[in-house]
Amino acid sequence: MIRSSIIKNAYFTSSHDGDIKTVLKDIKSDLNFAEMKQTHSSDVKIINSEGIYDSDGIETNSQDLPLVVRVADCIPILMQSNNLISAVHAGWRGINNSIFEKSLKNHNFKSLKISIGPHAKECCYEVKEDLKQLFPSSTIELNGRYYLNLRKRIEDFCKRENIELEVYNQCTICDDSYYSYRKTSTPHRQFGIIWQ
Ligand SMILES: [Zn+2]
Repeated sequence: MIRSSIIKNAYFTSSHDGDIKTVLKDIKSDLNFAEMKQTHSSDVKIINSEGIYDSDGIETNSQDLPLVVRVADCIPILMQSNNLISAVHAGWRGINNSIFEKSLKNHNFKSLKISIGPHAKECCYEVKEDLKQLFPSSTIELNGRYYLNLRKRIEDFCKRENIELEVYNQCTICDDSYYSYRKTSTPHRQFGIIWQ
């Protein structure tokens, strides 16, 4: 398990860490949490109680309510500013439909910290012409093949706005400690977890 070095209560699990209840018991010792029925949408919901929400981003200013995002190659994004936190699920559809920008809307940029957990990286994330055209400045060409750096728009934005960002090195496709839907069509997911 990775613990964020810039956000106080933010974690990213690997395939070794067990299910969400096991993980929460280990790191927090209570089992309430909010999560999402993720559909690669760009919907972000403001919430204040535990449950399962139809969206791909949730945010709360509630104290002590963990937000959980489930991923296996998509980007798990955890955010904190002042007393607001967010958990976001971002695949290429979500990024293309501006889920990152939508999830920023209520945050104070001056105090915003963003942590990006393990996801499919440009070492392995081969895409076809259609995605290359959607993400021209995020695609690398190597020996006639295209590879996507899906977080590049986020990195560029944070650099431009001077927002503190951490990105973990692990790639879910080539690091066997992580579930990869692309590699194995696994039904399992790892988690990003944040609370305040
Ligand atoms: Zn890789």
